[in-house]
Amino acid sequence: TDSDTADEAVRATCDDATTCKRFASSKGYWKDPYIQYFVRSVGERKAPEINRGYYARVRGVNNLLDKFVRKTDCNCQIINLGAGLDTTFWRLKDENLMPKKYFEVDFPTVVARKIHNIKTKPPLSKPLIETHSSDSLLLDGHSLDSDRYCIIGLDLRDVVTLDEKLRRFQLNPELPTLLLSECVLVYMNPAQSSKLLHWAAETFHTAMFINYEQANMVDRFGQVMIENLRRRQCNLAGVEACRSLDSQKERFLQTGWEHADALDMMTVYGLLPQDDLARIESLEFLDEKELLQQLLQHYCICWANKDKLRLGLSQLSF
Ligand code: SAM
Repeated sequence: TDSDTADEAVRATCDDATTCKRFASSKGYWKDPYIQYFVRSVGERKAPEINRGYYARVRGVNNLLDKFVRKTDCNCQIINLGAGLDTTFWRLKDENLMPKKYFEVDFPTVVARKIHNIKTKPPLSKPLIETHSSDSLLLDGHSLDSDRYCIIGLDLRDVVTLDEKLRRFQLNPELPTLLLSECVLVYMNPAQSSKLLHWAAETFHTAMFINYEQANMVDRFGQVMIENLRRRQCNLAGVEACRSLDSQKERFLQTGWEHADALDMMTVYGLLPQDDLARIESLEFLDEKELLQQLLQHYCICWANKDKLRLGLSQLSF
């Protein structure tokens, strides 16, 4: 059906994200020793503005995520919604920033692929085994559960199943929780993503949500971006919510979150550590500065929190 085609196109977006991250990290924008185990080849060259855009995305999201983990002294859990082939769990383990438990959720076919990679690549499986206390890991085609890492295959538009499966794998609603969605909500219609945000706000009393995706899509440049995705038959049901930074914040404030902030990626880029920016700007010559600016202005990070334990989550920022 049309909706199967659209979902299949959405699942394929995780390959785009991973090949772009693989390429930029191979160029030296940042280090990711694990991504090679999820996509074998470095792939074709990407334009410098694409690499810088991914740099801002990865550094921007990590910046907030690491601050949350430090704020809670690792006494927290992370739920990566629509995680694709993301490698954050392995990075946190290496940097001694591992939460009590790290959950990932994606469509079953994406999860099956990821589990296959983990099972067959020792650098991926070793950290799971090392941090696991009993002899056997739970493993079936659609999920893998160890003490510190769990991956579950399901459709995020089905919040009832999401809740049930996370609890079955020892989700602890009392623990400070970071939820992350990176280029995921745009593929759901506003009612579906609202349900997800509302579920999260209802489930956790102390939590932070980081959402990275398109924003400011109302101008000509935004329309061209949308057309390009549509041409690949992607279901962009959520693009309506990407009108402005205010609309990004509003959807959190309307679903039970106490506090929300949002910045476009041009602003985030300017707030990243200057020495590292100077380093990456010397990696590749960038001809089209304006194109980079336009690209960065059409993505944003929005973050929201609830803070019953008064950890000071609303102070977390760039
Ligand atoms: N977050 C990863 C990253 O940034 O590298 C992957 C981003 S990719 C653009 C979007 C991911 O969201 C895909 O892996 C896709 O399968 C997943 N996704 C989108 N809609 C979903 C849904 N309804 N249920 C589960 N996963 C979904």
